[in-house]
Amino acid sequence: MQPYKAILPLQLKGLKLSTFQTNWENHALLAEQEGWCYGKYLSQLCEIELQKRQASRLLRRTKESSLPTGKTLSSFDFKANNSIKPAQIHTLAQSDTWLKQAQNVIIFGPSGVGKTHIASAIAYSQIELGNRVKYYSMAHLVQLLQQAKVQFRLKDLLIKLDRIPLLLLDDIGYVKKDEHETSVLFELICHRYETGSLIITANQPFSEWDSIFPDSMMAVAAIDRLIHHATVINVTGDSYRTKGK
Ligand code: ADP
Ligand code: MG
Repeated sequence: MQPYKAILPLQLKGLKLSTFQTNWENHALLAEQEGWCYGKYLSQLCEIELQKRQASRLLRRTKESSLPTGKTLSSFDFKANNSIKPAQIHTLAQSDTWLKQAQNVIIFGPSGVGKTHIASAIAYSQIELGNRVKYYSMAHLVQLLQQAKVQFRLKDLLIKLDRIPLLLLDDIGYVKKDEHETSVLFELICHRYETGSLIITANQPFSEWDSIFPDSMMAVAAIDRLIHHATVINVTGDSYRTKGK
């Protein structure tokens, strides 16, 4: 056996080129059959290595995101709700310019009209574009923030969340100021203002957000920051769950 055959697997392992490892031999045969030059052979191996890495990053980031499964654009029926403008949703899904500019998306509407679905679909498209995303039910996130505050590590948690450029906060209306100390939510909104994006779904209009925050001044200040750079989507109509029943 030629010495390189013993060394190459170790070199590829050292360089963490696992798909080169599995493919260099069969591609060498292919190169001979097809008459590829050295450059083409190398480029073919690089291509499959890149594809594999992209696929595993997508998988890792989808898992990390905790997004509900199957709520993608392809499974969303735009014909079922004409208050949702496909072009607007596709623009948010196809580009991450708004994410790079730390803009927000706020989706209003009654229960069952597809807010969570559409928000998740936009978020998932952002993962496909290479961005990190995290889904939280708002009630759960408020709990986490509150816990962190009690343990004097709220700042640390907010800084940790800075690493995720897009947070999907689902159902802000389920957070009530008497159940939770929601000033932590205000702190999150202030902290991320102009530095990180939020998608928020809400079944209450802004005019009722004083039931979420400790006082109406805080609600106004939070809304002011959220909408300064934001796309607001109002979904109307009947619940998809009860449609046709
Ligand atoms: P909301 O968050 O507004 O309460 P959801 O997004 O949870 O509503 O939607 C309720 C259910 O109906 C989900 O299973 C969702 O996938 C589905 N759904 C809603 N609208 C549509 C739609 N236009 N096309 C396909 N499925 C939809
Ligand atoms: Mg929902």
